[in-house]
Amino acid sequence: MVFEDNSLFWCPFSYMFVAEFDLLINQIFMQQVIKLDILAIVAHPDDAELCSGGTLIKMCRMGKKVGIVDLTKGDLGSRGTPDIRMQEAAAASRIMGLAARENLGYRDGFFRNDEAHQMGVIRMIRRFQPEIVIANSLADRHPDHARAAQLVKESAFYSGLRMIQTEWDGHAQKEWRPKKIFHFIQDQYLEPDFVVDISETFADKERAMRAYGTQFFNPDDTSDQPVTHISSQHFWDFMEARARTMGHKIGVTFGEGFQSESMLKVDDLMDQV
Ligand SMILES: [Zn+2]
Repeated sequence: MVFEDNSLFWCPFSYMFVAEFDLLINQIFMQQVIKLDILAIVAHPDDAELCSGGTLIKMCRMGKKVGIVDLTKGDLGSRGTPDIRMQEAAAASRIMGLAARENLGYRDGFFRNDEAHQMGVIRMIRRFQPEIVIANSLADRHPDHARAAQLVKESAFYSGLRMIQTEWDGHAQKEWRPKKIFHFIQDQYLEPDFVVDISETFADKERAMRAYGTQFFNPDDTSDQPVTHISSQHFWDFMEARARTMGHKIGVTFGEGFQSESMLKVDDLMDQV
């Protein structure tokens, strides 16, 4: 799914959103590459919103092209259905201002870091040619998260090897290696290597999370679905507390922390004050 300008207006000569029209154009002309600045590749729909939503929204507002690839549809989630989660992900994408969102349809809980799964991720990296990849936590409570982080990390490296050949719509893809991989921090606290100030976008991050009505705390929910770890008010409060904790580290109201296994470059020390 490729979005153009948040898909907020209708295409005048057909009853489809501009995003869908753009996707149609891409399909007609078999566009091989849709260049993005930042691509989050994460285990479950809502991982990116929950742990890096403020940052992704901020980058969109700064004019960067941002996309998300979800590895699974969250089939094992106790609440909602895969179809509902896809609708929720599309709504959250529009709120964030994403340029593209795809789902690889891997099996929730049972995807592996093996050749078949790596080749799917490599095809996505080569299709979107991101400068930066955002990935799951390197260690976390949910076993899918660290496994997804390793899968994405290894795929990003192999994507740069031209001897690994892939195709998109029957056409050979060019090799591409993202310059940086940043891992967001999830349920388990990990010390960040840097923190992004999301004070200005925290409210919209919450709006994007509210789009996942079946997943996160919803005071208007009257369904009899089971309360899960992330659907409780406790978890919602925890999410805000985490953002305040990260913000406190850099002297702002709200922040999102990231880890980087490669060294970060500083050009101007004054950027730090
Ligand atoms: Zn997850």
